[in-house]
Amino acid sequence: MSRFFSSKYDKLVPYVPGEQPKDNADIVKLNTNESPFPPHPAVAAAVAEECGRLNLYSDPECALLHSKIAELYGVKPSQVLATNGSDEALNCAFLAFGDANNPLAFPDVTYGFYPVFAALDQIPYEEIPVREDLSVCPEDYMGIHKTVVLANPNAPTGMALGLDAIEAIVRSNPDNVVVIDEAYVDFGSESAVKLVDRYENLLVIQTFSKSRSMAGARLGFAIGNEKLIADMNTIKYSTNPYNVNRMTAAAGCAALAHNEYYMANCRVIMENRSYTTQALRELGFEVLDSRTNFVFARSNKLSGEELNRRLKEKNILVRRFQKERIRDYLRISIGTREQMERLVQAAAEILEDAT
Ligand SMILES: *Cc1c(COP(=O)(O)O)cnc(C)c1O
Repeated sequence: MSRFFSSKYDKLVPYVPGEQPKDNADIVKLNTNESPFPPHPAVAAAVAEECGRLNLYSDPECALLHSKIAELYGVKPSQVLATNGSDEALNCAFLAFGDANNPLAFPDVTYGFYPVFAALDQIPYEEIPVREDLSVCPEDYMGIHKTVVLANPNAPTGMALGLDAIEAIVRSNPDNVVVIDEAYVDFGSESAVKLVDRYENLLVIQTFSKSRSMAGARLGFAIGNEKLIADMNTIKYSTNPYNVNRMTAAAGCAALAHNEYYMANCRVIMENRSYTTQALRELGFEVLDSRTNFVFARSNKLSGEELNRRLKEKNILVRRFQKERIRDYLRISIGTREQMERLVQAAAEILEDAT
């Protein structure tokens, strides 16, 4: 740290992204919840075409992209804000709706970026313990008088709350915004988007990173009441008006034009998830019920640390977290069937060696 770094960041511990290996020839990469499927060919074509116009700024209003997202989700374009990854939408929402009078509330086991953004933005927050089985208890958030932030399905557990529970939380906190982070909603859970016209305090955030094979393009979006979106635009135009670049906006439009391709890929991921869940359970793993493109699992024989290390020796990358309650779990992204067979095979060998 230089002696110039502002002391207001004394407590800031930055987010640590999963490893992105440079040479991934023989690596089975199951550590960052990317899609194993390439983007639709129309996406590459759209990006290539847009490259010739890079001398011009992107459309700060993202008009075309907003209209395509709005069309797919049955809302008005003025209810949509596209962002540079959904991480940016989260930060925008925290800046817009969190402060000392509206502190944040989120689970103790959830997406690791929430406490980082809260610290960066100097917003107080409360971490609410998940239940013993790592599920979120909806009653804990009812009438809490705080800005609620829930990943649904939650990460890294993969478990989801039903829409009735989400609605009850939103309804019981009419004076605070409830942010529902639906990064994984396309893998089999219910979206709260259909509630945004009924609740002025509901903000739903989604991403193209997981279900639409665009993690490297950085595209997310928020959907909510027009006034919430206007507030987020105030933050956007105060930080980065051209937050979505030309290539990414074009890629997003092309992806939405081929939505069936991505939804079919999601169904394959869900099948591979069932296979992986069952195979790991047969090996003695405890595997939480996942509605996402990953499973959260722990062995009844080996520590998370050891398993993680042994898998890595076999060129299989998964994700592990240091937090006490979940340190023995591995978060394993769901890839192709072949990748998952390699993972299961490797896990079987490691357990065999251990006995
Ligand atoms: C991956 C993820 C995001 C962020 O994804 P972006 O790539 O920034 O769109 C947000 N929330 C959760 C829970 C995630 O797992």
